[in-house]
Amino acid sequence: PTCFIVLFIISRLMSITGTLSPWASSVPIELLKLDIAPRLHTDGQAINLASTDYGRIVQAIPAAVLHPSSIDDIVTLLKFSYNCSDPFRVAVRGHGHSVRGQAMADNGVVVDMTSLNDYNNGTGIRVSRNPSLGFYADVGGEQLWIDVLHATLEHGLAPVSWTDYLYLSVGGTLSNAGISGQSFRHGPQISNVFEMDVITGKGEFVTCSKHTNNDLFYAVLGGLGQFGIITRARIALDKAPNRAKWVRMLYHDFSAFTRDQEHLISINGLDYVEGSLIMQQSPPNNWRSSFFSLSDQSRIASLSTKHGIIYCLEVVKYYDDLTVDNIDEELQVLFKGLSFLSGFIFKRDVSYVDFLNRVRSGELKLQSKGLWEVPHPWLNLFVPKSRIMDFNEGVFVDIINKQNKTTGPILVYPLNRNKWDDRMSAVIPDEDTSYSIGLLHSSGDNGWEDLDEQNNEILQFCDKVGIKAKQYLPHYRTKEEWMNHFGSKWDIFQERKAQFDPKMILSPGQRIFNSV
Ligand code: FAD
Repeated sequence: PTCFIVLFIISRLMSITGTLSPWASSVPIELLKLDIAPRLHTDGQAINLASTDYGRIVQAIPAAVLHPSSIDDIVTLLKFSYNCSDPFRVAVRGHGHSVRGQAMADNGVVVDMTSLNDYNNGTGIRVSRNPSLGFYADVGGEQLWIDVLHATLEHGLAPVSWTDYLYLSVGGTLSNAGISGQSFRHGPQISNVFEMDVITGKGEFVTCSKHTNNDLFYAVLGGLGQFGIITRARIALDKAPNRAKWVRMLYHDFSAFTRDQEHLISINGLDYVEGSLIMQQSPPNNWRSSFFSLSDQSRIASLSTKHGIIYCLEVVKYYDDLTVDNIDEELQVLFKGLSFLSGFIFKRDVSYVDFLNRVRSGELKLQSKGLWEVPHPWLNLFVPKSRIMDFNEGVFVDIINKQNKTTGPILVYPLNRNKWDDRMSAVIPDEDTSYSIGLLHSSGDNGWEDLDEQNNEILQFCDKVGIKAKQYLPHYRTKEEWMNHFGSKWDIFQERKAQFDPKMILSPGQRIFNSV
């Protein structure tokens, strides 16, 4: 078939239907003869949304945006592209919270997953139980984690592994890993999936798990959207607690801070362990959470004036009506022997939902000031434990604190490798413990480029001194960099691409097998 005949008459016809602007693209016009045509949008609003993301750094304009009304619509789109002599690219957009155009498709078609929800025709969120798995939820790939939380809580249940921020789609986080302070104990979100429905790059609808079609299962988890579109994930659930004791402790000595963090993730008493930096340019309260009272903030500010960088260890223990009487005692035991600065321990007692959804209020505040939709030149890394002291000296002290241009939270917390499954596509360093580092910049007065330069300096520093860090939510420009990123997993990653998306249709915005 001559997929690429751009017909003037048909473009006129499209204008008449009112759903589409004139078709002026590399996507075959025959697409409009399919029954999904009414749900293909080329109007300014749909195109603008799909050409940008949370990062606001990359822009790539698609030819059209599909608002699927059902999973079959997505199958139809992918089958059509696959059978074209010159297939067009397809990107799935979950909630568009990537920072480097990962969910974009220049001149291709973006599938806006949110519309499955609007049509109420995806998997939705269904809680069930069976003897081998216990409780689980079947969740549409388009669902946001906040909705998964609310729906599962209705049954007194909840997933065990989270991200810090819940307005992210299930398909989006499972394509990366989905990490937070619970990961040390339960693994990343990808370690808590039993089964998935996936539409491959050939347009085939496949159910996969550890036991059935497991190549696809392992490929897709952490697979950066390269192998298929997740339309359903079966997520492990556990009994939900009611409340959370939320504690922060301050350090000025990085080695004491990391020693305590590593100790706390080695014992099984806490539900959440994270950490962050407090500096003049990244104060104690930020959009990630406003935890400290005004008077605490001024005490902490004097501490950071004296010491430069202050390290904040953050932990949570959940409790409920049955465990309420012992919770404080249990925490006391867990904190025994920790070396935080005397007098600098701060406690809050909040509901489970308020804790998990702690970032939302900061987001709303920034949105109201017009400060949420600004460029976000983020850098996320996994740094092996053996080099975390060098990373602190070379990056936190010598680059970030000295240059004084960081604008946003800086996270640092350890993860246990034994909670990750190496058969999955996600990549972390080859050590038992690695640190997740998040430099969550918002564009400052000097624009995002200045912060991006700093990010590059950090990456160059790691290269120069041989710190084998891996990027999380990776962003590379060349194939060599991607090969280096995947290391020994590159060959299998490539083989799986050839198997499940041989025409390299999916997720062009990641720039692994094709540029945007
Ligand atoms: P999108 O940006 O829409 O897509 C991301 C990638 O996944 C694209 O390649 C896309 O094609 C692919 N994709 C999306 N849906 C599907 C699907 N159904 N099937 C297959 N592929 C799909 N991450 C963490 O791990 N922990 C955190 O605590 C955390 N906090 C964050 C806080 C904020 C404010 C932001 C902006 C991001 C945060 N992230 C965090 C990063 C986030 O997990 C990723 O950016 C994730 O991809 C965002 O999900 P999304 O639905 O917006 O994905």
